[in-house]
Formats: sequence, structure tokens, C-alpha cells
Amino acid sequence: MTKLREFLEKINTKACFSGLIRYDEPMALHTTFRVGGTADVWVQPDATVFPDYAAALLRAASDEAIPVFILGHGANLVVSDTGLRGIVLDTGGWTDREKVSGTAPALRIRAGTAVDAAVEAAAQEGAGALAFLAGMPASIGGAVYMNARCYGRSVSDTLIEVEILDEAFQRIIVPFRPEDYGYKKSPFQNRAVLILSATFRREPRPPAEIWLEIEAHRQDRERKGHYRFPSAGSVFKNNRAFGKPTGQIIDELGLRGLNSGGAKVAPWHGNIIVNTGTATAADIRALVDQLISRVHAALGITLEPEILFVPPHHP
Ligand SMILES: Cc1cc2nc3c(=O)[nH]c(=O)nc-3n(C[C@H](O)[C@H](O)[C@H](O)COP(=O)(O)OP(=O)(O)OC[C@H]3O[C@@H](n4cnc5c(N)ncnc54)[C@H](O)[C@@H]3O)c2cc1C
Repeated sequence: MTKLREFLEKINTKACFSGLIRYDEPMALHTTFRVGGTADVWVQPDATVFPDYAAALLRAASDEAIPVFILGHGANLVVSDTGLRGIVLDTGGWTDREKVSGTAPALRIRAGTAVDAAVEAAAQEGAGALAFLAGMPASIGGAVYMNARCYGRSVSDTLIEVEILDEAFQRIIVPFRPEDYGYKKSPFQNRAVLILSATFRREPRPPAEIWLEIEAHRQDRERKGHYRFPSAGSVFKNNRAFGKPTGQIIDELGLRGLNSGGAKVAPWHGNIIVNTGTATAADIRALVDQLISRVHAALGITLEPEILFVPPHHP
């Protein structure tokens, strides 16, 4: 830990760090599931320094073989009970809109911006492109990384380009290419890059119509119990080959309400696992494994988790 402290003090002085930094930070505070042990260091740079600081930090950490985990709003994560070694780089201070050069009307939004804030800012100027995401807990960077999908649309349906810090720690623009994206898939999932901002089409519509759509999605999520308990939304991906939504498959096998410690399949939705208050990451993993094996035993199909276990192979 001393080595890590020295490393950070050195880099923070050199790169003029401004923001928040905490040692032994419980990751349960930074995930919507409210589980996860401590990160050695959690760093949230301010917007004033974010891209340059992130580049300096990632470069120096790579030189020293110190792992860095990039955190959005923690809405799709199950962080191990033993926590994360190395550095968690939280994008939550890198918020707001960016100016878009050129004449094409577009919305460029920084990666740490809450999706709901981006949805509202877009609606205020009559841009309807992001309304389908209303009520989804996420950062813009996390939504692009996951190619989040709801109400029949994916983030990739409205994307123009993404600005990243690439593997050589250079800021580059990655233009949207449909072949790079798929159901809950983005090209960034196979790369060690930091998404800095995303540019979306505006899709102008009358503001009243956009606000109606936003309200409808928020109410629908409320009704579906999305916010009743800590969770990470849908646990498993849907798969056309299964012939029906994964939630329905789990429901029909009578597995709603199944539990492992404090983790429970939501009694009202087969594809949501909730933390009833005492869940650990190990409870969630055990319940996910149990659902996979019970569904496989009954129907011969293999469910694929959508939630991410961090580190990937923790028990
Ligand atoms: C109540 C609830 C409802 C939900 N509903 C939906 C839904 O309808 N549709 C849906 O698709 N998902 C849904 N989710 C899941 C979640 O909102 C999405 O997966 C979202 O995209 C996660 O974004 P995040 O910022 O929280 O990312 P995180 O969970 O913090 O991170 C997810 C992954 O993205 C990476 N990442 C994050 N930011 C960056 C960045 N700037 N650069 C590079 N990598 C990055 C992380 O390293 C990690 O690998 C729901 C979750 C909850 C809790």
C-alpha cells in the first residue's frame, strides 16, 4: 500500500490532480447492488483535469503494472467481497456537455455524466435521441461500453462517434460503425481504453412529446420494481434462440423468490436479483450459478450473465 501511496502522490503532483481520493474505499458505496469489498485506492478526478490526469495515471500505472479499473455509476457490477487491488478510476467527476465543432447538429456528452441528466438536458433543447434511456441508472461511458438497450432501442442506434483514450493513451475519435456493435456489445469491451465522451444524433421532436416519453419510461420502471431494492437491473441477457425473454423462462420454472443468503430472485421479476439487505458478492454469484444450472437442467439452454463480475473470476 505504501508503494501505491507513493506512486499516487508522485503522479498527482506531476499531473496537478484535483478531485477526490480515498484509500481502502468500500466498493459497496459505488455499486447499485451495494456489494463489494474495498478498493486499494479510489480516485475521482475533477472535470478540470480529467482527460490529462487520466492519461498520465493510466500511462504510469501501465509502466508499473498497477491494475486500474474504470468505474462508471456501478450499475452493472458485482465487485468481489475481497475488493479490488490497484486503482479504481471513477469517471463521475467528468460530467456535462462538450461543444461540437462542425455544422451537423449533435450532442456530445462526457462519459461520467449520469444518463438521466443527459436525457433531461437533451429534452430541454428538443433532442429526443436519448429519451429511451430515461430512468436507467448509468453513466454515459458505461451505457456506451455496455451498448445499453431498453424499450426496443440500443445506444448504438443513435451514436455518431466516441472519443476515447486509446491503448497508447492518446485521445482519438472512433467513428460509429454498425458492424462493431451488437446486442449489449460494443467494440470497447475487447479493449483496454477509457471512453471520454460520446456524440449522439439529436433526433429533434417537440419537447412535450419527449417529456411524455421520459415520464412513461420512468413510471414503467417504477411499476416494474426497478428501484425497490439494490440491484443491477437484468441479470441475464435475452437470447432470441430461447424463444422468450429470460425473465419469463425463470418465472415459468418457478424460480422467482429463490435465494442465496441475502441475494434473492425478485419475487416480481425472474431476471432481477435483489440485495435484500445483507447480500454479499458471493451470495449473488452463487444465486447466478444456481439459476444457470437449474435452467440448463430443465431446458438444456445456457443463460449468459449480463452483469459483470469484477474481477471476472471471483467466487
Ligand atoms: C435498476 C436498474 C435498471 C437497469 N436497466 C437497464 C436497462 O434497461 N438496459 C440496460 O442495458 N441496462 C440496464 N441496467 C444496467 C446498467 O444500467 C447498464 O449496464 C449501464 O450501461 C451501466 O453503466 P455504468 O455507468 O453504471 O457502468 P459500470 O457498471 O460502472 O461499468 C460497466 C462496465 O463499463 C466499463 N466502463 C464504465 N465507464 C467506462 C468508461 N468511461 N470507459 C471505459 N469503460 C467504462 C466498466 O469498466 C465496466 O466494465 C440497469 C441497472 C439498474 C440498477
